[in-house]
Amino acid sequence: MSRIAYVNGRYLPLAAAQIRVEDRGFLFGDGIYEVVYVNRGRFVDAEKHLARLERSLREVRIAMPVGRPALEGILREIVERNRIRDSGLIYIQITRGAARREHVFPQAGTRPTLVVTARALASFPKDVDTWATGIVTGPDQRWARCDIKTVNLLPNVLAKQAAKEAGAFEMALVDEAGMVTECASSNIWIVDAAGRLRTRPLGHDILPGCTRAALAELLGGERLTLEERAFSLDDLRAAREVFITSATSFVRPITRIDGATVGEGEVGPVTRQLFAAFSRHVQGGLPNAA
Ligand code: PLP
Repeated sequence: MSRIAYVNGRYLPLAAAQIRVEDRGFLFGDGIYEVVYVNRGRFVDAEKHLARLERSLREVRIAMPVGRPALEGILREIVERNRIRDSGLIYIQITRGAARREHVFPQAGTRPTLVVTARALASFPKDVDTWATGIVTGPDQRWARCDIKTVNLLPNVLAKQAAKEAGAFEMALVDEAGMVTECASSNIWIVDAAGRLRTRPLGHDILPGCTRAALAELLGGERLTLEERAFSLDDLRAAREVFITSATSFVRPITRIDGATVGEGEVGPVTRQLFAAFSRHVQGGLPNAA
């Protein structure tokens, strides 16, 4: 079955779907996006993702092309049309539209471009030990507003490719002060050498991850506390446990950094507990309305 894409009001086979050559997303990276994980018809953390999408649009001054209820309808439809029953992701991209190439905003009334696609994923990981992976570290070469989920992902692309070529899944990005910001496409957490669960506080230098926020909300029920305090590359290397979070990594244990093992090289107890808690968060609940 061919995949189906939504583009500006029409559902089309992916291979036939088109945007214009002068689309500003293509020319300038002038657009924003979201990725939502869908599990058995349920959109995980949908409210958080849609709120962040609206915030990203406000920050870059692009108008929402359709209202929230219409967008939610498109998301439901795209999942249905792509026959995603078990596990999948929905990709939403909104750009400032197509217009003659000039850096300044196009004239009022230019319609933003809305593209929505979806694809099936492997089922939610059942086993936390086999879900564990490795990362490398490298410089954070991104811009000064990483809190906005824009499609300008060139530094992230290069970081992720460097990780892949080094046999790792992700790159932890390190700022000029030697502090870890986040990874190329995920947030990063540690249980530090003193046993404290830490992740970097929100600010302009990291994306406010929806998984990060959802997991933070689960901590009380797990009798764990979080210190939102930046940690250095040295802290990362000395950590007892390390894990990353994102809509499609969920809670993913990191057991190797730059080829060296984290602790004993096994998934630690806090990561194990949080993977289980997040797994319940994803799998639990009824199919939701969004
Ligand atoms: N940080 C970056 C740079 C990302 O690209 C992502 C997700 O793609 C995240 C963090 C995690 O965000 P979320 O949990 O909302 O997927």
